[in-house]
Amino acid sequence: MTKESLVCPFCSLLCDDLRVDVQDGQAQVLAQGCERARKLFPVPAAAAAVIDGRPAEPRDALLHAARLLARSRRPLLSGLGCDIHGLRAAVRLAERAGAHLDHMHAAAQLRNVLSLRRGGSMLTTLSELRNRADVVLMAGTVAGGAPRLFERCLGPEAQGLFGELHRRVLVVGSPLLRPRRWPAGAELAIECANEALPELFGLLRARAAGARPRVREWRGIDMQRIDALLDALRGARYGVLVWDAGELDHADADLTVRAMLDLVTELNANTRWSALPLGGDDGGASAQQVCTWLAGYPLRMGFVDGVARSDPRQRTTSQLLEQQACDLLLWISALDPARLPPRAACPTIVLGRADMQPPAGVEVFLPVAVPGVQAPGALTRVDQVVTLPLAAPAPAALPGVAEVLGHMQRMHQELRHAAA
Ligand code: SF4
Repeated sequence: MTKESLVCPFCSLLCDDLRVDVQDGQAQVLAQGCERARKLFPVPAAAAAVIDGRPAEPRDALLHAARLLARSRRPLLSGLGCDIHGLRAAVRLAERAGAHLDHMHAAAQLRNVLSLRRGGSMLTTLSELRNRADVVLMAGTVAGGAPRLFERCLGPEAQGLFGELHRRVLVVGSPLLRPRRWPAGAELAIECANEALPELFGLLRARAAGARPRVREWRGIDMQRIDALLDALRGARYGVLVWDAGELDHADADLTVRAMLDLVTELNANTRWSALPLGGDDGGASAQQVCTWLAGYPLRMGFVDGVARSDPRQRTTSQLLEQQACDLLLWISALDPARLPPRAACPTIVLGRADMQPPAGVEVFLPVAVPGVQAPGALTRVDQVVTLPLAAPAPAALPGVAEVLGHMQRMHQELRHAAA
């Protein structure tokens, strides 16, 4: 049976035009999906729960997981690769169990959050990007993590909602180092290491402010090229600066983001510019939203005695595990079977897709339905202004993350009461 106009949950672009066929209970992408979507839509309809490496009844595995949780003094709920319903259940469970919460992509997202906190921002949406942007500056990325961004939003010639668009897509940074095809229509304006981007944006801001130090080049690049780039940015009617904080993986990357946001603000003195940070895959964009709705803080955060505590500079999942600051890891990855938990000396519970191969040492594995393929759900899009419903083209009997965590929370409470 063929299903049309499905939303793909496998990156935060949430393309809503996929054509998917279902044969023998498995979904296959027929049209519009990228390679990632074609790889991740097919998923087995069932898998065995596992306790200590041996197949187990799902109820026994759930009870075992709840016992581990009840014994834990400081659990860590991490990964968090699931949809909004699963995330809501994770926050509720963390509140009851006094747990830390972390997302597998929190480090990248925090580079944006910390920069936004320091001075605000002017952000835009995918729709504005597609329909209005005549100059797009891609900083340190060619959107490898959002494979259809160019196809869906960045065509060089487009009939936008507001008339004909002749778009320039300029790239700065080291995106050529990524092993992927150079997107059609993109021009490499300045090639430099991504670590040098704060300097480049500082230079652009200084020259935009009229500073003309007596230097002819910057890192071997003639200053005329820097000025030509600045002229192109200033000449935009509606410019958009795009980056992926996951690709700015260097010390003080939040300063790079801040420098870009400041340039956007300053360009707005004479024309219109906005920013569009990419990233937030595996439910990352949703996780930030859900934690903020329910607890008042984005990740990273946690609960102590039922009170939410925010600490964006909180140690990462790996650091918490290495320093034995938590005594149980509950890892969730319902969207991608390759997102495995880090090694942990403490007991590890994994909620994963039916095709996940949990690593040795995982104490309990509970297979869960994939939201958007095997179960309905909802996810927040990369621009954080739209939450899209997910269909279930290949429904499975597996429970969703929210259901498993809900059961675990009830069992955990019963066990704690019985022990009191
Ligand atoms: S670009 Fe992202 S949302 Fe679109 S089809 Fe590919 S994985 Fe799915």
